[in-house]
Amino acid sequence: MPADAVPTAPAPGAAPVRIRPEIAALAPYRQGKQAGADAFKLSSNENPFDPLPSVVAALHSVIGVNRYPDASAARLRHRLADRFGVAPDEVHVAAGSVSILAQLLLAAASPGDEVVYAWRSFEAYPGLALIAGATPIEVPLTADSRHDLPAMAAAVTDRTRAIIVCSPNNPTGPIVTHDEFETFLRSVPDDVLVILDEAYAEFVTDPAAVDGMRVLGLAGHANVVALRTFSKAFGLAGLRVGYAIGHPRILDAARSTSIPLSVTAQAEEAALASLDAEVELLERVAHIADRRDRLVAGLRDAGWRIPDAQGNFLWLATGEDTVRVATAFEEGGLMVRPFAGEGVRISVGEEDAVEKILRIAASVVGTLPEGHSARG
Ligand code: PMP
Repeated sequence: MPADAVPTAPAPGAAPVRIRPEIAALAPYRQGKQAGADAFKLSSNENPFDPLPSVVAALHSVIGVNRYPDASAARLRHRLADRFGVAPDEVHVAAGSVSILAQLLLAAASPGDEVVYAWRSFEAYPGLALIAGATPIEVPLTADSRHDLPAMAAAVTDRTRAIIVCSPNNPTGPIVTHDEFETFLRSVPDDVLVILDEAYAEFVTDPAAVDGMRVLGLAGHANVVALRTFSKAFGLAGLRVGYAIGHPRILDAARSTSIPLSVTAQAEEAALASLDAEVELLERVAHIADRRDRLVAGLRDAGWRIPDAQGNFLWLATGEDTVRVATAFEEGGLMVRPFAGEGVRISVGEEDAVEKILRIAASVVGTLPEGHSARG
């Protein structure tokens, strides 16, 4: 610093060093509230089942923690390639599917480029687009909380470098259908990356839903990358492991932007053990989907209007009453996820929480104003 330069004090509450303004403007990440000992944590779309003994054993089998893990998680990649009938270089594994999303956006978009996604959707999308330097383009959901794919296609410009489609949509629940997705792909340039975020794919019971693995098997979709995760259906959220399936050169670009060695040996072993136990784990998923359907039916009976729920969560469009409604659930021992001014997302958790959700929701619905969007 020149001797006569006067250091300017950072604004109150600001970082003491220079930060990219668009990063400084981001709201810091806030995790779903942790639940007290006697509360149910229904705020992070986690799997309520304890890990299988075989998965715990796989974790304990890793003893060489003084060694780095295998950088490309090759065993898991090969196993997933076999599972989905693709080549190993068409699979990429990272510390959670959200990491792959970040890598893909960094690889595809530069400052001035645009990333299109539906809104409201997964809250990581705007931040990850901004971190890549890109401009987020948010396309409102339809009145029934679904992706408006024609509007998303219309939002594509010559600056668009990536489009994210989330099916089922977090936090509102509906899927995109296979036919809608096919029509959409035909209406966007085939050199624009389309990321199909299928974090909740295994919970889907609607046969019309898009299935990334089926889409990738069709000709002419080299611009599509499907994202999946072991965090939700497979119950490994705490270990951080997710994967992408897509064109090897797109995945190479993601690999180039990745932080090396992020997938631990424990995560890889647990994911392999989970694939060994897939039948058993998918039985649990079927229980959660059944619980979800019973919850939705009960809530609708009580007068709530609930969008089609195809993930392991459901959405109450409580609008300006959101904080009040979330507080009522929390006081009743249910930690839910409020999106202030929009709605409340409730994860489908333990069976013992079902009755409680229905009881509290039934007492709250009558307090919403007549004609409220959450009232059927
Ligand atoms: N996509 C969506 C739509 C999600 O809801 C989540 C988790 N909340 C993720 C991706 C990230 O999952 P993970 O990084 O744990 O694989």
